[in-house]
Amino acid sequence: MRTRNKPWAAERLADYPHYAVPVPENVKGNWSEDFGNHNPLHIEVGTGKGRFVTEMARANPDVNYIGIELSESVIVTALDRVIEADLPNVKLLNINAEDLTAVFEKGEVHRVYLNFSDPWPKNRHEKRRLTYKKFLDLYKTVLPEKGEIHFKTDNQGLFEYSLQSFSAYGLLLTYVSLDLHKSDFEGNIMTEYEEKFSNKGQRIYRCEVQYQ
Ligand code: SAM
Repeated sequence: MRTRNKPWAAERLADYPHYAVPVPENVKGNWSEDFGNHNPLHIEVGTGKGRFVTEMARANPDVNYIGIELSESVIVTALDRVIEADLPNVKLLNINAEDLTAVFEKGEVHRVYLNFSDPWPKNRHEKRRLTYKKFLDLYKTVLPEKGEIHFKTDNQGLFEYSLQSFSAYGLLLTYVSLDLHKSDFEGNIMTEYEEKFSNKGQRIYRCEVQYQ
């Protein structure tokens, strides 16, 4: 995602610690207390500008959502959305997905969403793909038994790679659509990238997989 550097972003995030949790390591094992309920926790890794987590939180008040985003300059836009929505069940973390296990206990996350993850098409960048086995290990460490990953993308190469990666890892494929917007899937919430690509006529691939 190309975004201008925003030197003021860190200060803005620091002004809203309730929404953009400043030291999430301190909340590890206590996210239920932080949200003030024992509802399931779903995370989106690579949340970008935050439309998905915010609209999912609005549509599903009995689920807690956390959007995880590496780029400070991007997550600050998600923060604006979250502030405007003013919902009790959505928060943001400005961290690298590689640090997931530093902020969540085993079983503390009930579902992982990956939406329009960066494709990193060159073979030498495979390890950066969020569906590479190293990341599947990390998700497994924070999910419960039979935890789920829900993944969608416009990128056919990344989708095929990810299906192979999930399969090689032993994940069970429980749902697949090769054209989400023409399928009977209900309740789809469009992400910023999804809207951009589908407006260009690109089809959207989606799958759900489960750890065994
Ligand atoms: N999910 C959003 C959407 O569908 O509109 C954003 C998609 S954008 C192509 C991918 C986002 O993932 C970028 O904002 C990028 O900074 C973030 N990202 C990439 N690798 C990450 C990582 N290791 N940890 C956290 N975020 C990451």
